[in-house]
Amino acid sequence: MRILVVGGAGYVGSTSVETLVAAGHHVTVYDNLTTGHRDAVIDGPRLVVGQIGDRGHLEHVLREDRIDAVLHCAAKSLVSESMADPGLYYRNNVAGGVALLEAMKATGVTRLVFSSTAAVYGEPRRVPIAEADRTEPINPYGATKLAFEGAMRWFAASHGFRAISLRYFNVAGATEANGEDHDPETHLIPLVLNVAAGDASHVQIFGQDYPTPDGTCIRDFVHVRDLGNGHLLALEATGEGDPSLEVYNLGSAAGFSVREVVEAARKVTGRAIPARPLKRRVGDPPVLVASSRRARRELGWTPRHSSLEQMLTDAWRWQVAHPRGYDDRAPSEAQRSTGPADSQQRNVAASVAAT
Ligand code: UDP
Repeated sequence: MRILVVGGAGYVGSTSVETLVAAGHHVTVYDNLTTGHRDAVIDGPRLVVGQIGDRGHLEHVLREDRIDAVLHCAAKSLVSESMADPGLYYRNNVAGGVALLEAMKATGVTRLVFSSTAAVYGEPRRVPIAEADRTEPINPYGATKLAFEGAMRWFAASHGFRAISLRYFNVAGATEANGEDHDPETHLIPLVLNVAAGDASHVQIFGQDYPTPDGTCIRDFVHVRDLGNGHLLALEATGEGDPSLEVYNLGSAAGFSVREVVEAARKVTGRAIPARPLKRRVGDPPVLVASSRRARRELGWTPRHSSLEQMLTDAWRWQVAHPRGYDDRAPSEAQRSTGPADSQQRNVAASVAAT
């Protein structure tokens, strides 16, 4: 398959590119590099630097690289940023996403997989959360992801798209080549590992009085490798069947508390990792855990790398190898960004098993 990965230079996108290439697919990456990194694109795929809202540019790339299917990972994804600037989120995640849909329609590309979020559910009424549960997002981030899912549904009904939306929870871990490098970093696991690395004095634990066994929030973490495999299976599943939008949760089904994460990180890193309690963070539900039964049953998805120990081990290995994130890498972008569209894909991602 010839796949365009929009947002393929980000954390989730770049690791998915590795899985797709390892499975033998031809990949083109389209990214504006605002939060993505040039060096996160492995050797092989052509990197096109462009905006998601640039319909004409997208049409050109879809035609030029004779794309069969699109993986869309290009959304803005910080809750607090979305609260401060909802317009940015509606412009990028909704208007930009619709430009992508229209470019696909204009070029006859109707297979789409969308990297969505569990934030579409808002405060769950029950856990584990199932796909048919109420969707009432409590921030513009979740609202704009849900709005784009709505657009996908109507492009399926009106224009014959076969589309899949994957809703996931907390992503963690790393591959050999790629890991988490956000600025600013707000996520628990990288922050805990920053303390282990000596870059911060202590971890803040937001709330210790939740109705959970140890009083801290429980979250569903999934290894970024397992997510890559979910994307691969979903892309393959868009090949057949009637036009539709299907929705699947991808989670490991086992929740871990914030305290459990800190404790496991102490074991994996061998570092003390001091932690200090703080008051609750606004908008944090006590427990967020997904039911992935549907993805397991219908897509054949099995998370194989999502034990807490493996996610932390892989994230720690990447962090130790790249203490300043992608800034540590030797620049090698010239060759990739100008390479011919049909250049032979080199399978340099052998370590990313398409399990
Ligand atoms: N958390 C924490 N300290 C931090 C960052 C996060 O206690 O420095 C908690 C946060 O309150 C939540 C969980 O860790 O309960 C996961 O937060 P994160 O921001 O990583 O992901 P989210 O669940 O918000 O997507």
